[in-house]
Parts: sequence; C-alpha cells; structure tokens
Amino acid sequence: MPLEHPVRVARWIHKRYQFSEPPVSFAPALADYPIKVDLRDWSPDVSGICVRAALVSSIGLNQNDSLGRRHFTLWHEFYHYLVHDDEWQFYCVRPWERQRRERECNIFAAHVLMPQE
Ligand SMILES: [Zn+2]
Repeated sequence: MPLEHPVRVARWIHKRYQFSEPPVSFAPALADYPIKVDLRDWSPDVSGICVRAALVSSIGLNQNDSLGRRHFTLWHEFYHYLVHDDEWQFYCVRPWERQRRERECNIFAAHVLMPQE
C-alpha cells in the first residue's frame, strides 16, 4: 500500500475496489478489514472515532450528522486505521483541520468520495 500521501492511498483504494462512480460503498473495505462501524449520539462537535484493537477495531460515527457527512467521516476514520498505525485511538472533533493527521484523513476521504480524475 502506498503510504506516502493520502491522494495515492485514495487512488489505491479506487483501484483495489474498482470504484467507478459515486456513491462509493464502504462494504468492500468492511469485508477486507476487521472493523465494525456503529452510530453514536454525540454533540455536534464530535465527528467520529477510530479505535484499533487486536481482533476487531471500531469506527464510531455521529448519528446526528447528515448521511453525506457520516460517509465522509467513515473514510476519514478508515485512513486513521490504514495509515496511522502507531496510535490506538483517534477522537475526531471539529474543527479537525488543525492537525496534520486530521488533514491527511480529510484529503483521503475527499479523494475517495470525489476523485480528481
Ligand atoms: Zn480524525
């Protein structure tokens, strides 16, 4: 997997799962990785969490966000899972653009959902 840049990882995901046009389904990734996804009742500033575990990792999404926003957050959290493997837990609170890793996740999610080419 190309780890150098979120755009390259997004291209790799598109190629691997042969996504052609939106909407992009997360189902193929769920089939490949031991991750469970659930919805949580959080305040508006919380977008999601990613908790890495030995057997099954989890991604939590804010059920109060729009469907599109939750989809974006899902791919954001998946990038934490795929690439930021030196940390066990990510708690993603808006505004999340301030930190480098959060920006990487956002770039990845944007390029998975809205590829440039
Ligand atoms: Zn994050």
